[in-house]
Amino acid sequence: MNLKDFLTVMKELGFDEIIIDNNTLNQKVKLLEEINKEIQVCTKCDLHKNRTQAVLGEGNPNSPIMFIGEAPGEEEDKQGRPFVGRAGQLLTKAIESAGYKRNDVYIANINKCRPPNNRTPTIEEQEACFPYLKRQIEIINPSVLCLLGATAYRGIFKKETKITKERGNVLEYDGKKVYVTYHPAYVLRNLKEEPTFFEDIKKALELAFKK
Ligand code: SF4
Repeated sequence: MNLKDFLTVMKELGFDEIIIDNNTLNQKVKLLEEINKEIQVCTKCDLHKNRTQAVLGEGNPNSPIMFIGEAPGEEEDKQGRPFVGRAGQLLTKAIESAGYKRNDVYIANINKCRPPNNRTPTIEEQEACFPYLKRQIEIINPSVLCLLGATAYRGIFKKETKITKERGNVLEYDGKKVYVTYHPAYVLRNLKEEPTFFEDIKKALELAFKK
């Protein structure tokens, strides 16, 4: 039985709150490490051809919130960590200015390998990679997903949207709340949107941490 099915059964049995102990945390870390091993040798789409390394994600596996972006960029591909370039630094600043730490959250992407010249991953590439993200979501089991930009939205909901139409909305995916906002790389190109982005990140965090 996977973690999601286990939690569903426990809920049906009347357990509203399940305390995650160290054994469960260790189990989550182990399951995430298994996915990491798989993506490092994955050849399911052409993005493997140019990667230095695949980037799984990082953060607190017990976090109630998971941020989802598009794909690694140059710096992420080099370091093997998500959101560590300029856009990542802006995301970290927004998290910290809301009173939280980067280690309080989990951060991942739709695609695990860097697209050439940072182009948007094709729909075929997104779909090839999605099962890895789906497993990450099941393992971490956050109550809130914060989608950063149109590719994250498409990857989760399987339909295109204008992010200006959806941002600020609270949606639902697989029993989880979904908060939609800009990708921080877009905000870097449109600095007038920075206050809105910071406010969105704060709202998403409060949705997850202040129940
Ligand atoms: S992007 Fe995802 S599906 Fe494509 S090669 Fe990398 S890990 Fe595999």
